Amino acid sequence: MPSSTYHVVIIGGGISGLAAAFFVMEEAEKHQLALQCTVVERDARWGGKILTNRQQDLLIEGGPDSFLTSKPWALALCRTLGLEDQLIPTNTENNHTFSFCHGALRELPQGLLAFRPQRVDTLVSSGLLSWGGLLRMGAERVWPKSSARFSDESLGSFFRRRFGAEAFDYLIEPLVAGIYAGDADELSIEATFPRFRELEAQYGSVIKGMRTAQATAKIAPKAPGVSPSLFMTLRNGLGHLIEVLVNTLTDRGVQLLTGSGCREVQPTASNDGRYQVSLDNQDLLTADAVVLTTPTYQTAQMIRTIQPEVANLLDMIPYTSTATISMTYPTEAIAKHIRGFGFVVPRKEQRELLAATWTSLKWPYRSQKGETLIRCYVGGRGREHILEYDDRKIVESVRQELQGIVGITTPPTYTEVHRWIRGMPQYVIGHQARLASIKELMRPWPNLHMSGAGLYGIGIPDCIREGSRVAENLAQSFLQNSKPTGP
Ligand SMILES: Cc1cc2nc3c(=O)[nH]c(=O)nc-3n(C[C@H](O)[C@H](O)[C@H](O)COP(=O)(O)OP(=O)(O)OC[C@H]3O[C@@H](n4cnc5c(N)ncnc54)[C@H](O)[C@@H]3O)c2cc1C
Repeated sequence: MPSSTYHVVIIGGGISGLAAAFFVMEEAEKHQLALQCTVVERDARWGGKILTNRQQDLLIEGGPDSFLTSKPWALALCRTLGLEDQLIPTNTENNHTFSFCHGALRELPQGLLAFRPQRVDTLVSSGLLSWGGLLRMGAERVWPKSSARFSDESLGSFFRRRFGAEAFDYLIEPLVAGIYAGDADELSIEATFPRFRELEAQYGSVIKGMRTAQATAKIAPKAPGVSPSLFMTLRNGLGHLIEVLVNTLTDRGVQLLTGSGCREVQPTASNDGRYQVSLDNQDLLTADAVVLTTPTYQTAQMIRTIQPEVANLLDMIPYTSTATISMTYPTEAIAKHIRGFGFVVPRKEQRELLAATWTSLKWPYRSQKGETLIRCYVGGRGREHILEYDDRKIVESVRQELQGIVGITTPPTYTEVHRWIRGMPQYVIGHQARLASIKELMRPWPNLHMSGAGLYGIGIPDCIREGSRVAENLAQSFLQNSKPTGP
């Protein structure tokens, strides 16, 4: 590599790392920067939490199964990569989601998953909330806003305060658990749903604020191609996005290294503003810029020598473990049980199951005709004990749950378990303040960046947005040619 060529090393080959590499190459092209990019992945496989297993007519997502379209970055990246014709929305038929509470499955109002309930009548008729609970929830419009100046507040505290304990327990908590696998009394409202606090502050009520925002929202011009549903995925699974990204990066000359992780990042011995990246296999890479997209507890180890304070802050971000259990059933054996996308289980019900998705009713092309694919979700904050079981026992436990909740007694024809140990970062109270301190402490290291799901957003769109933001920052830094000298 000529000495005038910038070398960017990206650690971690999940969506955060691969998207960052893609945008780094885009920026290089846009600004005509001579740049070489290397991505280092410890595993033999690319994609991190994105893992699609395809066999014959069955398509199983071990990790995420879709992305939110209201955050546009994942949809936009798919389109840029030429995957427009592969995008699929959720089925329009059977578009119902249920919550298991008070011993029965009760339908959630449509739009609640996006925190925008459209049909209040379904909420009233569902029996999810008592009349007292409904009245308290409706009173949110006139409930006084908090006069306290919280620096941060838990999700549980915020939603109980605004909507009452019942609405929190049976409507909001299970949705939050489905996204973060977390304990709402630990998670920070600032770091997870800051918009709700803003609405309270601005309009005195979340409901009033959302109504006003909806009434004044500009209708976006329809983009060409398929109309997005709230969640979208790819016909051949999200693993296809990873395959296309890897192929695109290979075509653009990005060096893709698998099978050896990064151990440490240090300034070069000459302290010329560059970094030395040590790999587990003893290889050393010299880089003008490094982007760490690994889980924060891994990132902490890599930078402990140069920035122990930041390493300690990163260590304070907890992670929880979850598992997905995919099972197929003959459709006729379970058809009578549920006609919908699945159900969530409030923590209050004290069950092993967090949620179950009737995958083949939710998405097309997931299983062959006559078979229904169901995916169960277990674990999460305070419920990790199930991860200690072997696969057979996890499947047994989930089957018992399905029998108790939905009455399915038929044995599955196929099962697949995916464990995500310390896979889900928890943005607990104080997360935003920690991020601000990290940013400040990293100032002396301008071309050493951190992103990844542990910091600025756990969803796939957030991870992609961060990749783009980091790439823009790097390009600006290179354009100013501000090769810093270390502190
Ligand atoms: C079960 C589950 C379901 C989910 N569902 C959804 C969903 O439906 N929609 C959605 O938007 N999000 C979902 N998420 C969240 C989303 O999938 C993740 O937040 C996102 O994929 C994380 O991407 P990442 O690249 O930041 O991290 P990861 O995917 O964790 O990638 C980090 C990579 O770094 C590698 N690595 C670790 N240490 C080292 C090292 N020392 N050196 C080199 N490499 C290293 C790892 O092997 C890994 O490949 C889900 C997550 C889980 C676990």
